[in-house]
This record gives sequence, C-alpha cells and structure tokens, in this order.
Amino acid sequence: EVCVMKKFIRENIDHQPIVDNVFKIVNLANDAIAKKGKENIVNATIGSLYDEDGNLVALDTVFNTYNSLDNRTKAKYASSFSGNPNFRKQVYNWVVQDTKLDLCHSVIGTPGGSGAVSSTILNVLDEGQTLSIPHIAWGNYKSMATIANCKVQAYQMFDGDAFNITSFKETCREVMARQGKVLAIINDPCHNPTGYSMTVEEWNQVIDFCNELSNEGPVIILDDIAYIDYSYNLERSRDYMNAFNRMNDQVMIVVAFSCSKTLTSYGLRCGGAVILARNQEDVRALEILMEKHARASWSNIPNAAMENFVKVTTEHKDEFNEEKGKYVDLLRQRCEVFKKEADECGLAYYPYKEGFFVTLKVEDDDLLTRFHEAMLAQDIYTIKVNKGIRVALCSLSVEKCQGLAFKMKEILDSLK
Ligand code: PLP
Repeated sequence: EVCVMKKFIRENIDHQPIVDNVFKIVNLANDAIAKKGKENIVNATIGSLYDEDGNLVALDTVFNTYNSLDNRTKAKYASSFSGNPNFRKQVYNWVVQDTKLDLCHSVIGTPGGSGAVSSTILNVLDEGQTLSIPHIAWGNYKSMATIANCKVQAYQMFDGDAFNITSFKETCREVMARQGKVLAIINDPCHNPTGYSMTVEEWNQVIDFCNELSNEGPVIILDDIAYIDYSYNLERSRDYMNAFNRMNDQVMIVVAFSCSKTLTSYGLRCGGAVILARNQEDVRALEILMEKHARASWSNIPNAAMENFVKVTTEHKDEFNEEKGKYVDLLRQRCEVFKKEADECGLAYYPYKEGFFVTLKVEDDDLLTRFHEAMLAQDIYTIKVNKGIRVALCSLSVEKCQGLAFKMKEILDSLK
C-alpha cells in the first residue's frame, strides 16, 4: 500500500511561485541605471505615473488632504466591512458621474481595483469554472482565476483597429455552453496594456449580445476601469455606461474602480466594486457574498483612504481635477510623440487611444523574445506581454519618448 504524504500546504491548488516578469526587468533596469546613469537608459517598465524629472507623481491635492486628516481617522477601523457609507455613495457618484443609470446598484469597498476584481471572480464563479479575459491583458486576471481554482479562456481583443466582437461572442458562447454562466472581463476604457478604449457602439453591441446570450444563463460583465480617469476626454469618459441601461434582468455588471491611479495612491489600498443589475435581490445576493468575503479576508479597508477619497473628490474636486489634468496632458504629449514616430517608421502597435501604455504588436513569439532581449541589450527596458511589448509611457519623459520608436524599429529590423 502506497502512502502518499500530505503537504504542509493545501493540496488542491497550483503550487508554482508567482512569475513576475515585471519586477525582474524593473530590477535589470535599476541595475543598469546604477551602473551607466539614468540619462543612458530608457526605463519603460514602470506602470505608475512619473513626472518629467523621473519622480513618482504623488498629487498634492490628494496627499495634502490626506495629511490634514485627524490621526484618529487614520487609526480607526472602517465603519463597515463593505466600506463606509459616504465612501460607497461617493464611489458610485464618481464612477457614473453624469450618466443616468436606471439600474439597481450597490458598492463594496475593496483594497484597490485588485480587491474588486478578485472578489468578483471568487463570488461569481464556482471552482472549476472559466473566466473570459482578453488575450492581451493584465497578468493578474489569470492569477486571480487560478487562486480561485478557475480556468481562463481568452477572446481576441482586436479585429483590425476595432474591438473583436466576433471573438468575444464566440468565447462567451463556448463558455456558456459548458457551464451555463458567463463571467467576462472587459478592461475598458484605457485598456492595460494597449491603451484601447471601446466606442459607445461597441459597448452597445456587447450589451445587446449579453442580453441575447442570457437566454441560456446569467451573464456577468466585469468592467475594469482602473485607468478611466486618464481618459483624454474626461467629460465623455463615462458615456459608454449609457449602454448599461440596455441590459436585461439576466445580465449583471460589476465595475471595478481603483483609487490607485485616479488619486496616484497605489499603496493606500482603496477601491470599490460597483454592482449593477435590474433587480435589487440580485444586487443584494452578490453584496452579501462580497461583504462576507471581505470580512473573511481583508476584513475592512483603510478608513482614512476612504475618507480621503470622499474629501478629494467633493470638497477639493476642482483643484484635484486641475492638477491631475496636467498629467493627463503630459501623458497625451508623450504618446503623441511616440505614435507619430512609430507611424513614420512603420513600427506596429495595437490600436491606442489613451492610457498609461502603448503595446507594440509582435505576433511571432520567437521574434517577440528576440526583440525584447535585443532591446534590453541596447538599454531599452520594456515588458514582454502576450503578442507584444508593453511600453510604459506613463513613466517616460517626453524627451525619452523622442526617437524611441525609431530606435526600436531599427532593432526590430536588424533581427529579421
Ligand atoms: N486593473 C488593471 C488593468 C490594472 O493594471 C491594475 C493595476 O495595475 C488594477 C486593476 C488594480 O490596481 P489596484 O489594485 O492597485 O487598484
């Protein structure tokens, strides 16, 4: 009789360590900077907003407000596991802004957008089920699915320069046929890592399709809006949410909001899941699970982070928007420089509209690896993603953007 020894740790889970390609390259870039000086290195690896001098942006309007909070506000527990009531209300207001949604809703405070996404996956899908994600996507979607013992199935993001609604439909239909339910992530607007933003018409098509598919079972769309407040046309950035009003009572939308980028407060773990559905009972059912999950994992999120978000976005809204607006303009300048040159020399990139990153299009996996390595050898540090190279223009000065596309094209051509 063979006795199989048990492990110290749980058995029924993937035991592989995190493969963090980002930190590995970030470290390489830092070593190179230490050796050769930062003027000689292009470090396009960092996914946070940096100013023109290469420093992390920490908005004054955000942190002066934070610093003015009473110590006891910072010391206190949140007033509820699902978040403070004023915070939950203000997250809803901030997320939808002028959009008039005729849907029932609730907000659960979460540690960043990560908490909102992972809690939705855990509380919508059962173990063994499949999450649909874009084929080029933030790597954590897969990690979150894996830790929930779920699988992922990718839909192709693009058909030419447009959202690939055909692939989205095919993927969702296949998943529905297998498990009688669909949870699909759409990371929009300002998709990480391509910077694509869907049109209102594309969103209408998505919702109309969800309505149709919902004849076979519930359809949940997880709209990850982590970068929404860096849209180039902020006033129009929520227009697509009008499409949500088309959804029927078998469709649910969870909008994952993050204070990390909106407030440049990545380490002050704060965000929210906005649950939207036709019927209050359905909203309540997910709210119950998410609240229990919060209690059983992170318990509650930082009280001061919530109070700060409310203050900044109400009492200091105009100054905050103005200060952040300058950086949105800067981001636009950087991307315009890069795109113009890329277009000029024929360096292919995925359709970029707005956001922190541009992603070069390299569909051949072998060439992708060689291209990425050849750039490292020339002190251009970027992140390899599925079928592409992520260039973090959010952390690169306008000056560093100049000539970069040309250099990249030259390196690429030398490999062919
Ligand atoms: N979603 C996407 C696409 C992201 O890139 C990030 C952060 O990098 C997040 C969500 C969540 O970030 P956080 O948990 O810091 O709010």
